Formats: sequence, structure tokens, C-alpha cells
Amino acid sequence: MSFLNENDLSESQNKVSSILDDSKFSSKQNEASIEKKIYNFKVVLLGDASVGKTSILNRYIKKQFSDDYKCTISSCIENKSFTYDLYTVIKLNIWDTSGEEKFKSITKLYFKNTHGIVLNYDIHNRKTFESLNDWIKIIKENSNQFVSIIIVGNKIDLERNVSKEELNNFCENYNFLSEEVSAKNGINIDLLFQKLSKKMIENYENFEKEDNNKSENNNIDNNEMNNEDSKIKLSNSMNDDNKNFQNDNIEKKKDKEIQCC
Ligand code: GDP
Ligand code: MG
Repeated sequence: MSFLNENDLSESQNKVSSILDDSKFSSKQNEASIEKKIYNFKVVLLGDASVGKTSILNRYIKKQFSDDYKCTISSCIENKSFTYDLYTVIKLNIWDTSGEEKFKSITKLYFKNTHGIVLNYDIHNRKTFESLNDWIKIIKENSNQFVSIIIVGNKIDLERNVSKEELNNFCENYNFLSEEVSAKNGINIDLLFQKLSKKMIENYENFEKEDNNKSENNNIDNNEMNNEDSKIKLSNSMNDDNKNFQNDNIEKKKDKEIQCC
């Protein structure tokens, strides 16, 4: 049974546009001449088995959905870059979890250097909403205080057994972001990553302010970007974690590939 109307998708697209508008995307300056900050953020998808983590990732990256989706090794970590606003490019390195979630045995590897967490439940399956507290305990034990968290109720195309109000109350308690989405229909999927990215930038900048020991040399990295980004210089302040991030990921990916599926 479907509970979506045909305006839902365009509403979702409008919400994304409004975030972009807020971020000065409509400026008339010559975009090519502007030096952009590039943020590299690691994001982890968490939540009970079958809530739709892999489907959300697949919808976001490939714009596809399958009713019988099975995680493959190559889909466990995905990268996506997008222009957040005139001055900012965001590069997301998104980790799917598969198998481990049944036992909530997510290893510390997933949490290392993580900037954002998408904690998912299935609005049709109440048990997965009730699991959120357990997940938050695991996150608190393993993450730093600057990690950004968004609680995501997936499958809004199905009959709901968790109300929007319950989600809002839950998130107010913890001061988390929230969104309801459908990986199946693509509703609010881009929006959720936009919202999370906005929060990760804020938290990252706050972290920077509190990092009294940073030195000028460590802060600015003027490395030339690859061809695609050749006109863009990396001008954001990068902490040590972020600088080592790309190298670490090669090792993590090898490790992850062994664990996946
Ligand atoms: P994961 O275990 O959390 O990665 O969940 P999957 O992405 O493998 O999805 C589990 C099942 O839920 C699959 O059969 C998907 O097709 C289905 N599913 C995922 N997202 C949605 C959604 O938004 N709506 C509906 N109706 N089914 C979905
Ligand atoms: Mg999966």
C-alpha cells in the first residue's frame, strides 16, 4: 500500500534547493574563479538489518533501487562529491555496514575518523525504532563529541508504525537531526545528506576553533587537486585526521572488503 502522493518527490527536491539557496548558491559571481573549500567527510550508515541502509546508499549514489537488494563488496564503501555552495565542495566517503548489524558488533574501525552517522530505522517496523537507544549507546562509546548524527526513518512509502511526532521527540531529547525518507521512491534521500553535510561543516569548524595546538603549517594544504578539480584549491583547514584520511582509507577498504558480505 502506498502512502505517498505525487507531490512528495517535488517537495523533497524543493527542500534541497532551499538548503542550497540558503548557502548562497544563487550568487552571480563567476564560479570558476572562486577558490573553494573542500571538506573530506567520512560517513557511516548504521541501524538494524533490513532497515534499508544499502538501499539508501544505492539510491543516493546510483539513483537505483532493488526490491531484493544484496550488498556486494564494491558497494560497501562509496564516494560522492558535490558542490555544496559557491564556496564549498564536499567529498563524502560513505561506509555501509552489512551483516555486523545483526549482532550490533560494529568494530571500532567503522567509527575511526568518522564525521557523520546516518542512524536508520524502518517506519513500518517498530522494533527497529526501539533499537535506536542501543545504537546510540554504541555510537557514544566509540565516537568523538564532534560526530554529527542524523536519525532517518526509511520506507515512508509503506504503512507507518512510528509517528513523525515520536521521531521528533526522540531527536529533541538528543539534539539530533532527523528525516523521513524512502529509498524506494527517492524521497528526501539527497536532502538527508545535505542536512548532515551542513551539520558536519559546523561541527568541523567548531572543532577547529577548539583545537588550540594547531600550527599554521598543519592548517593550510595547497595541494593541487586532480584534473576534475584542477581549478579548485584546497583552502580549508585540515586537521591531522583529515590529512591522513585518504591514506587510511586504502587500508580500511582492504580490511572492509574482507569483512563485507
Ligand atoms: P539493510 O540490511 O539495512 O542494508 O537493508 P536493505 O537495503 O538490504 O533493504 C532491506 C529490504 O528493504 C530490501 O528488500 C529492500 O528492497 C527493502 N527496502 C529498502 N528501502 C526501502 C524503501 O524505502 N521502501 C520499501 N518499500 N522497501 C525498502
Ligand atoms: Mg545492507
